Amino acid sequence: MRPSSRGTARRAFRLLSFAVILLAASSATHAQTNAAPQTAELKPKSRVRLLGQEIPPGTRQRLHWTSGAAIEGFATPTPVIVLNGRGPGPVLCLTAAIHGDELNGIEVVRRVLDDVDVEELNGAIIGVPIVNIHGFYRGTRYLPDRRDLNRHFPGNPRGSAATRIAHSFFTEIVSHCSALIDLHTGSLNRTNLPQVRANLNIPSVARMTQAFGATVVLHSIGDRKSLRRAATEAGIPAVTFEMGEPMRVQPEQVEHGVKAVQTLMYALGMTRQRRYWGDPEPVYYASKWVRVDQGGILFSDVALGEYVSEGELLGVVIDPISNNQYRIYSPLSGRVLGMALNQVVLPGFAAYRIGTQTSPSGVVKNREQETSIPEDDYEEEGLEDGLEDEPE
Ligand SMILES: [Zn+2]
Repeated sequence: MRPSSRGTARRAFRLLSFAVILLAASSATHAQTNAAPQTAELKPKSRVRLLGQEIPPGTRQRLHWTSGAAIEGFATPTPVIVLNGRGPGPVLCLTAAIHGDELNGIEVVRRVLDDVDVEELNGAIIGVPIVNIHGFYRGTRYLPDRRDLNRHFPGNPRGSAATRIAHSFFTEIVSHCSALIDLHTGSLNRTNLPQVRANLNIPSVARMTQAFGATVVLHSIGDRKSLRRAATEAGIPAVTFEMGEPMRVQPEQVEHGVKAVQTLMYALGMTRQRRYWGDPEPVYYASKWVRVDQGGILFSDVALGEYVSEGELLGVVIDPISNNQYRIYSPLSGRVLGMALNQVVLPGFAAYRIGTQTSPSGVVKNREQETSIPEDDYEEEGLEDGLEDEPE
């Protein structure tokens, strides 16, 4: 496939200005130097030092992070892969499986890191393919104490086990990032079209969303105490990349994720290679959840990514005992950005996330009006188990 030549110059300029802003943000975050001209901000980090190790330019190293919140003799070190390029550039962090059952991101990180020629790389990449290694081994989203690690950032060294783990990860790893992509999937029995979630009110983050190629972008400030939100609050531009469903590795979803991350790296000037898109523009969506009003077994009529019209049948919920059938119609025209897999549902269950295409400013405005949309597919589950409201 060849790239569209339409708007190439405009795009190049936009991406360049994004790189400058991102690097400026990175420079400010790490207080590298006092107020320096842009050319100085584009200088390489002279050294990459992480977890007590110096990573020389032009090398790739596997390090290990341990949170300190485990029985010492049983501590499971979490692999951290660092690629330090020879050229100047930002430190891009890729984190996956902060929810231990979300596997697609693990494969995205592996493929992105495997594909980079560190001799040619500008800047550095810190990859943590499996942040929640305990959840990963047990095939669950949660930490061993059933807490959701992604609701405890930036953490607290004297708090609960989850906040200690979050604090260790945030200070040891995340504080070194110039920009961060946190890879996720939908929650159990739900699936998401590949999509970037970002706080478009933050200019450096909004610019970052322009560089993932033809990817759906949703505006959200991020769950309270999520890694993404804690990072942006610490001045590190960060987005969540959602794709597919948990407990599986889905080749098409992974392929989209790899392509999107590689497109961002190219936009940042980190790599020379370019993954071509038919249409490289991001698509901004405002979205609305459609909930079911009757319990039963859900049978969907639509597929993920499908375009639907207002009034179109989305699916049917059938009560297996009374045989009552409840039809779910789309309240608006749009695209199915996320949906529940066929399963048993209770009244109030959020079954379809329908997005309507809009502009970046439109998506921000719309979001502010629709406060009833769940922040994330799985937030409700967290609230249901009663753990997420526990005071720190
Ligand atoms: Zn997740």
